[in-house]
Amino acid sequence: MAAQDEPGAPSRPRQQKVPPARPRRRRNPRFSTEVPRRGWEDAVYHLDTGVLFAAAVDAVCGGHVIRHYRDRLHTTDVIVTEVRHRATNPTSKPGVQEAAEEATRMFIDSGAVSVDELQPGDVWQFESVLQQLRQLEAVRTREPASPQVREKHGGEASAIVCCLREMAGGARVVFATNDGGASRVAHSRQVHTRHFGHLLNELVCTATYRAEEAFALFEQANRITGVPAVARPQGEADLSCQAAADGCTVCVGC
Ligand SMILES: [Zn+2]
Repeated sequence: MAAQDEPGAPSRPRQQKVPPARPRRRRNPRFSTEVPRRGWEDAVYHLDTGVLFAAAVDAVCGGHVIRHYRDRLHTTDVIVTEVRHRATNPTSKPGVQEAAEEATRMFIDSGAVSVDELQPGDVWQFESVLQQLRQLEAVRTREPASPQVREKHGGEASAIVCCLREMAGGARVVFATNDGGASRVAHSRQVHTRHFGHLLNELVCTATYRAEEAFALFEQANRITGVPAVARPQGEADLSCQAAADGCTVCVGC
């Protein structure tokens, strides 16, 4: 500033100021830090399309998920439509159609997940959540939301609305999605969100998998339905249980 210049000092060309980088934190996913590592054994788990695909990539893993969360797995009619659509329509991404077929068979047709439906009274909230998801996507891609984006986010919006409805009824609820934007919108509405890696960690805590097996499964599924890089487990240590040290007490939390 001019006031700090020494008197009589020759004026130097003003250096061009580089604007500070916009903090990336604002767009980071907001997966819940309140759900303990071991998960909540009394919570309903609402599965989004990507997590249904991820859990179906390995048939044995899908079976473990169904057993571990027996009678606690939910999804929505909008997501079921999306999964069935992917199962019957080829995509350019390898493995997606196969995962959708398996998810349809293992989770939907078998009745392993309860399918919640939006009610007429949910329409206003659904539109509000959808709008929030579309705005996030538009900021990320710097383009106006296309009809495809609207279709894509319908499943997530329906799941968040159903989570809110069940929370209002007193249930403990976890929204299971791999989508960073959906995790942010859910967080803004006090819905706890976990991704497929967290679910695998819950299976490590119940000794269903060793950490290295869980990490291999995560990497396999992550090729089909990716978790945002900043939130991914980086190795088997990130999917571990403290059972050896303290009988999983740390994983249970308080
Ligand atoms: Zn544990």
